[in-house]
Amino acid sequence: MSALSPVLKQATQVLAVRGEGVHLYDESGRAHLDFTAGIGVTSTGHCHPRVVAAAQEQVGKLVHGQYTTVMHQPLLTLTERLGEVLPAGIDSLFYVNSGSEAVEAAMRLAKQATGRPNIVAFQGGFHGRTMAAASMTTSATKFRSGYGPLMPGVALAPFPNAFHYGWDEETATRFALRELDQLLATVTAPADTAAFIVEPVLGEGGYVPANTAFLQGLRERADRHGILLILDEVQTGFGRTGKFWGHDHFGGRPDIVVTAKGLASGFPLSAIAAPEALMAKAWPGSQGGTYGGNAVACAAAIATLDVIQDEKLVENAATRGGQLFTGLREVAAKHAAGAGRAGIGDVRGLGLMAGTEFTGADGEPDGATAAKVHAAAGERGLLLLTCGTQGQVVRMIPPLVVSEAEVAEGLRLWEESV
Ligand code: PLP
Repeated sequence: MSALSPVLKQATQVLAVRGEGVHLYDESGRAHLDFTAGIGVTSTGHCHPRVVAAAQEQVGKLVHGQYTTVMHQPLLTLTERLGEVLPAGIDSLFYVNSGSEAVEAAMRLAKQATGRPNIVAFQGGFHGRTMAAASMTTSATKFRSGYGPLMPGVALAPFPNAFHYGWDEETATRFALRELDQLLATVTAPADTAAFIVEPVLGEGGYVPANTAFLQGLRERADRHGILLILDEVQTGFGRTGKFWGHDHFGGRPDIVVTAKGLASGFPLSAIAAPEALMAKAWPGSQGGTYGGNAVACAAAIATLDVIQDEKLVENAATRGGQLFTGLREVAAKHAAGAGRAGIGDVRGLGLMAGTEFTGADGEPDGATAAKVHAAAGERGLLLLTCGTQGQVVRMIPPLVVSEAEVAEGLRLWEESV
């Protein structure tokens, strides 16, 4: 047998043989409470019967029919269905396979549509691991080190990360927008700037929500200068934050929306969406890919949308998110960092995107403690993830079908692990 690469060995916690709802089962039959959802993907829960049935039915009919030559009904139906949930004025779509590819597609579209070379991304953002996506990614140096030079033409502005700066949100936002104006005055002139790309909630960067003043500030500047606003909703879309889109909390109407993860319950599918007049500016042949819009993935995505709607998963994310944050804050209060004491420095996020940040006695991010807590939870059967510049944030991102009892169980295991 050939060996697993060190990367796979290091990453693998559980050999899952089966998934059902919020649980994964290993070879011994042990149940693990999965508060990772495949990094925010399996929002309808593992192997939701309706998603499974839709995929199985489609496999028997047509697996693949690449859209440059063969159109198929699942893609057409999905496009129509997404049209019902996309922000107003966003009426054109195309499909690729992953978040990174969709981010790259959005970037290419923005550059082609404006004829401008540069992109402004935000400190702490994560947009993927392909070369261009990594060039716009700064959530941790590991994502962009050791294989440069990265793509030129990316300018970085601060994200209003209040906890990181030790300020209130208003001050952090004023600072971020002032620095952005400075960047546009000195580093990338508006006439050279194709787009701003931003996540409504920093994901890998530590579960830091944006806010209304910030996103509206970006919108105003975009309008003033003819810059496009790309919202990377890869992690925040499809109800994850307790509203359908992450930016629904804040406004800041996008020109281009990037989606993936929660779109198809685990089947590889992503999409970019924009007004048709803008999408028409993509140069023919420059967008797309062999597997984009795969028929089985599209069928699974249609079933995913049905489940989100029929089981009221957006509402569930808001309600269960409230329960989760209440519990996490209670635990945090018992282990609060401060006055030279290590512990929990912050609890933040939105809906079912919940992060707990660990802080050392020196007030610095404490990735080592976060790693220990993460491992302790894993031993108790609670699967979690870490994120943040130093891995100092332990995050919970359970399937949106999670029940009250499952959130309570997760919190119980969390309290034991901290
Ligand atoms: N954008 C955001 C906000 C993400 O969270 C991710 C993945 O975590 C990506 C882009 C990249 O997606 P993928 O890993 O599917 O390429």
